[in-house]
Amino acid sequence: MPPVPKPSGEQGGWCWDHSYARLPEALHATVRPGRVPMPQWVVFNRNLADGLRLDAAWLAQAGNADLFSGNRLPDGAQPLAQAYAGHQYGRFTILGDGRAILLGEHRTPDGERWDIQLKGAGRTPFSRGGDGRAALAPMLREFLISEAMQALGIPTTRSLAVVSTGEPVFRETPRPGAVLTRVAASHIRVGTFEWAAARRDREALEALAIHTSARHFPATRAARNPHAALLAAIVERQASLIARWQWVGFVHGVMNTDNMAVSGETLDYGPCAFLDACDPAAVFSSIDAHGRYAYGRQPDIALWNLTRLAESLLPLLHAHPASAVAVAQEVLGEFPAHFHRHWMDMARAKLGLRGPEAGDEDLVRDLLDWMTRTGADFTNTFRELGDAMEDPGSISNDAGFRHWHCSWKARLHSQGKSLEAVRAAMQRCNPAVIPRNHQVEAVLDAAVEGDMSPFDQLLTVLQTPFELRSEDAKFADPPPPGTPPCRTLCGT
Ligand code: AMP
Ligand code: MG
Repeated sequence: MPPVPKPSGEQGGWCWDHSYARLPEALHATVRPGRVPMPQWVVFNRNLADGLRLDAAWLAQAGNADLFSGNRLPDGAQPLAQAYAGHQYGRFTILGDGRAILLGEHRTPDGERWDIQLKGAGRTPFSRGGDGRAALAPMLREFLISEAMQALGIPTTRSLAVVSTGEPVFRETPRPGAVLTRVAASHIRVGTFEWAAARRDREALEALAIHTSARHFPATRAARNPHAALLAAIVERQASLIARWQWVGFVHGVMNTDNMAVSGETLDYGPCAFLDACDPAAVFSSIDAHGRYAYGRQPDIALWNLTRLAESLLPLLHAHPASAVAVAQEVLGEFPAHFHRHWMDMARAKLGLRGPEAGDEDLVRDLLDWMTRTGADFTNTFRELGDAMEDPGSISNDAGFRHWHCSWKARLHSQGKSLEAVRAAMQRCNPAVIPRNHQVEAVLDAAVEGDMSPFDQLLTVLQTPFELRSEDAKFADPPPPGTPPCRTLCGT
């Protein structure tokens, strides 16, 4: 990457570069955002703007909503739509950003580089039959849940702004339209590599691989086989990411290869949802009829997707096809061990266990089995464990649970640390609040009716998920009995 220049002094504090636009033309298409009739502010992420070293006060002015709608472009933006392909529900498809327009990469004085993208900004050459637009509720949903993920410590794309467009979008019914400004380390997907590979465009494939390494994994450039090292680095990041998802009960819902960012950030908040009751078979997406993307399948699906990435990279891995396959298999073969290591490290932290000991995995799995059997609330069970060291009955009087609790206590005592210290450490990694579906739906319903205060309140609570004030206790409540199962929608 070229050195970071001095801030350009543009209004808003933007400091643009366009390294993606300099990649071969096969990877992108120049496009201007469409116009909308009446852009208006809905929400602006000041914390994020400050973190990006933007001029938050200037950007948040009422007159600047049009900057986040695509009607007016910041000086120095160079809009384009990214090309990609993807395996959707296992089937290969040619895609591309059908409704997302990259304005460029903003660089901070610390040398960070962030994609700034408008989602819902109008048709692009990849829109197929779509209108290029987005509805307000799903964009607010992405804003809320991505901010919750960030606060939970999970790598994710961020949301800088949502503006309404003053124009309806037509889904089953007319809905208010909106544009979301998404911020990402990059929007390079597994599907971006599949696109270059499917076109047998070696130049584009290699340029993309080198760009990705330079941007996300610079150490891999010095490896003996840099492209194999790139694949290995992506495999490792995904193993870590999916382990984190599993431990907060996050169900992505549409883990198509075009929705997997090679940076290791969670990307694409369409039909995602969090577990209430612990259930490996949990599926929330209304179109995932066969449970391909069920909670318990996410690690396997990640490896399936990474295998598509490895296939795409084969021409770069070795000059001889059979050797390239051997390299790919060796790297992919590391995923289960990486995942298991991350998963167990996080499990130990959640249960207050120090250092690995034989029997830890059984202890973890026995608890999960009990939680699954009894439909225990995923988040609250872990949170309450910290408070229930002396009193298992406050969680359950079930004999199976009491038996487990005895084994856990014995393991804790053998560590010789005060239970209070263990409890404090546990509460730092077991959230009290997650974005519960029934609450998310309620605040979005109010927002669409023009009342943003429930949204703002939930957002505030989700920004500090490990601390919950007593007056906010209702945000930790599971859905009331009889609440219909949550069904989420894709591509809205
Ligand atoms: P998603 O389900 O959001 O991952 O979208 C799958 C693909 O469809 C992506 O390439 C999107 O850019 C595209 N897409 C989704 N919604 C629209 C829309 N309303 N108009 C055009 N393209 C869309
Ligand atoms: Mg997508």
